[in-house]
Amino acid sequence: MERTFLAIKPDGVQRGLVSEIIGRFETKGFTLIGLKFQKVSRELAEQHYDVHRERPFFPGLVEFITSGPVVAMVWEGDGVIASARKIIGATNPLNAEPGTIRGDLGINVGRNLIHGSDAPETAQKEIALWFKDEELVAWQPHLTPWLH
Ligand code: ADP
Ligand code: MG
Repeated sequence: MERTFLAIKPDGVQRGLVSEIIGRFETKGFTLIGLKFQKVSRELAEQHYDVHRERPFFPGLVEFITSGPVVAMVWEGDGVIASARKIIGATNPLNAEPGTIRGDLGINVGRNLIHGSDAPETAQKEIALWFKDEELVAWQPHLTPWLH
């Protein structure tokens, strides 16, 4: 079953949007299999955003991600990687469609509330970077199998 890595950034936590954001994936019907609340080390932040290392916004991005706790998650389900990106919306919240997390709740590209893996390879890499195997709970919602 496909898995993706999602993280509610410090702005999402500090604005009290954790339940609102998690709720969007929960009500969609995806399955939560990993969840932790942590402050992010500079090393982890730099590894996570390694592809953006040469971009002008990189130092500010690392500063921001390490500035307060984040909610790191792994979600599972058919097509969850692309679907989560749709639910999240465009990188710049000003361009994100209403109905998406960033479109409904955000206005600033540097404070866009949530990260989501963009492809199967990055999902695999990010899950391994943030979670140990034993921190993931493989389970099936047997009371609602029709959801999946
Ligand atoms: P996404 O999070 O939608 O995958 P990117 O991978 O392109 O977006 O960028 C990673 C993160 O870097 C973005 O979510 C955003 O927080 C930040 N970022 C991207 N572009 C800019 C920018 N022009 N100015 C400030 N921050 C940016
Ligand atoms: Mg990205």
